Parts: sequence; structure tokens; C-alpha cells
Amino acid sequence: MKVITSIKEMQALVKEIKKDKSIGFVPTMGYLHEGHIQLMQEARLENDTVVVSIFVNPLQFGPNDDYDSYPRDFERDQNICSSEGVDIIFHPSAEEMYPSPLSVKALVQRRTNVLCGESRPGHFDGVATVLTKLFNIVQPERVYLGMKDAQQVAVVEGLISDFNFPINLIPVGTVREEDGLAKSSRNIRLAPEEREEAPELYRSLLLAKELLEAGERSKEVVIAKMKKHIEEKTTGIIDYVEIYSFPELEEYERLEGKIIIALAVKFANARLIDNLVLTVE
Ligand code: AMP
Repeated sequence: MKVITSIKEMQALVKEIKKDKSIGFVPTMGYLHEGHIQLMQEARLENDTVVVSIFVNPLQFGPNDDYDSYPRDFERDQNICSSEGVDIIFHPSAEEMYPSPLSVKALVQRRTNVLCGESRPGHFDGVATVLTKLFNIVQPERVYLGMKDAQQVAVVEGLISDFNFPINLIPVGTVREEDGLAKSSRNIRLAPEEREEAPELYRSLLLAKELLEAGERSKEVVIAKMKKHIEEKTTGIIDYVEIYSFPELEEYERLEGKIIIALAVKFANARLIDNLVLTVE
């Protein structure tokens, strides 16, 4: 397994690899867990070469976000990548990626005025900008993204299609703890009591699913019941609980077709997100 920190070096290596091999790419911010591992394993099965990037991208963090305190442990990440058969870790510094203020940035115009895009202004512009750079550097055939960040999947689908990247986006289902909590690098920042409550977020999503299966079609009713569940069972502060069409992330009158039920809840030191994407007949 190679660890590359220089863009030039990565580009030279990619040029060699692409002569006769496919590249599967897993972009991450590190502090790897089973969610990331799932992406790596799928990439390993479908590509000759697997590249994992580990880069905490300053551009996608707002002024009040947790860029400085985002958990980092490169040595541990290296061991995980090595045991998952990753070929290359691309681990540039922020100075390597952004040596001077950018003259051009990506501006996400759709699928971004709701959910995390609304509560984190500029976040998806930062994601789209760094992914544009990473796609140009790594030039993968396939990119693997987790449905844990479903809005990211929707936005990147738009980026790939609008900017004509010759890349297949492979969405990978959310990996959960045994009690249902979606695995996240930020989970370690939950206090013990918060960690006990956190699975209630997923339970509120399951409650919504049950309501839909029982025939409920009012978005307001489903959202109100989810909010009540979260408020009663946790000490977290609800950022949003929303339902939209997926992947367009548009409002609609009646709950039908492919939809996303998504939530974000703030605990003292961690903002958790989760979602379910399902089809309503
Ligand atoms: P991050 O390091 O948080 O930027 O995540 C890197 C990639 O891993 C993104 O595509 C995430 O959606 C994905 N990911 C994070 N957590 C999970 C999870 N619990 N299950 C599946 N994929 C995940």
C-alpha cells in the first residue's frame, strides 16, 4: 500500500495505472469506521486499484463547525486501509490542496437549499469543489459514497452529470451499530448518556416507516410524530426532520414515489444525521 501526499506524485501514478487498470475511489475525511470499510470492500470487489483519500476538507466546514476538533488518527486509518487491501491512500495537506485562495469554486444550485445544505450554508459548495479536484487528480471509473450522507449522494450525482465526469457513482447503504445508530466518526464525541439515547434517532425513522406502511400519507403528521419521539426520548436539539422526494429533494403534496426521510439532531458535542430512503406506493 502506498501513501501519497503530493498531487503531482498522485497524478503520475494515476497515469501509469490507467494504462491498463480500473480505479475505484473512496473519498473520506478519515477516522475510519465500518461505514468507510464497507465502501472500501465494495470498491475492492469491483476495481483493479482502490484509492482512498483521507482529507479533512476545510472548505466544507462553516465558521461554527468542528474543523479543528474533527477527530483524526492517521496511523490507525493506515492500518485499517492496509488490512482492507487498499492500494493507495491519498493524504494531502490543506496547503497542498489549497496553496492559494481559489479563483474558481463550485456552486451547488439544486438539491442544496434543504436539509444539511440549509443548516450548513456553503457546505455542499465545499464538498463539490474538493470532489472536483479529487476526481481530476484520481480519475476513478467508480466513486463510492455512503447513503448515510444521502444529500451528498444527490448533490454529487448532479456534479458528475452536469460536469460530465466519466465516473459511475455507487451509493452504499448505511452501516449501523447493533442498536441501530448510524456509524459516524463523530459518535465518539457523544457523552455516555447521549450515546444511549442516540439510537432513538434511527427508531424515529423506523416509526415513520411504520406509519407510511400503515397508510399514513400526511407529511406533517409523520414529521410531528418523529419530532415528538426524538424530543421525548433524547436530550438532543432537533436541527431538522424533513421528508422530500429523492434524489431531487423537492417538496411534494402527497407522499409517494421514492422519498427520503432525513433528520439532524444536535447533542452537546456532536451533530448527528441519519435518513431512510424508501419507495411509497
Ligand atoms: P466522511 O469521512 O464522514 O466524509 O465519510 C466518507 C464516506 O463514508 C462518505 O461517502 C460517507 O457517506 C460514508 N459513510 C460515513 N458513515 C457511513 C456509514 N455509517 N455507512 C455507510 N457509509 C458511511
